[in-house]
Amino acid sequence: MAATTLSEKDRELIKEWLACGVLQKVEKHRVDQRAGAILITCSDGDRFPDIWKYQCNMQSAQRNDTRIHLFAWHGGSLACVPESPINTISNAHEVFLGQIPAARALKGINTLVHYAHAPCGAAGLYGVDLKQVLGLQMKAHLEIIARNTGIDAFPFFHIDYGEEKYSYFASPKEYPQWVANKAKTSRACA
Ligand SMILES: [Zn+2]
Repeated sequence: MAATTLSEKDRELIKEWLACGVLQKVEKHRVDQRAGAILITCSDGDRFPDIWKYQCNMQSAQRNDTRIHLFAWHGGSLACVPESPINTISNAHEVFLGQIPAARALKGINTLVHYAHAPCGAAGLYGVDLKQVLGLQMKAHLEIIARNTGIDAFPFFHIDYGEEKYSYFASPKEYPQWVANKAKTSRACA
């Protein structure tokens, strides 16, 4: 059975990401949700309710009602990567990514939040570790922005610590820096 709790190694890596700014506290005002948001998330029934609650709460400062156009499937962002290890059907990412332009056109929503999370049962099932989960999410982010001109896309990362659950912003700017620093030295941050 796939892991449903964070390992010590995972907790250490999360601490490192937080220290290096790879994962950041969400600055809600930066996400323009006046017209609502498209939300891509893992279906995980134990974590999705917390993600949903967080997103509803985040919108409440900008809107009187909740307007979330939802795409929930195993792995969330991870399913949007070409030949993702968690997709069992070839080119499945085209199906997932193909939904985004339609959502924008149908709803006039230009803000998209896409989640990966840990621990993720779907990732565990296919042997994808935490480091790979974030790497895949960053690839998904590049695919999303490359295919959707002008979209406001934000990668979020949900963590279930057991004692509490938390949503972070996963920085597409800081992540490549962290990868480069790790490759050059054993130091985590620049
Ligand atoms: Zn999951």
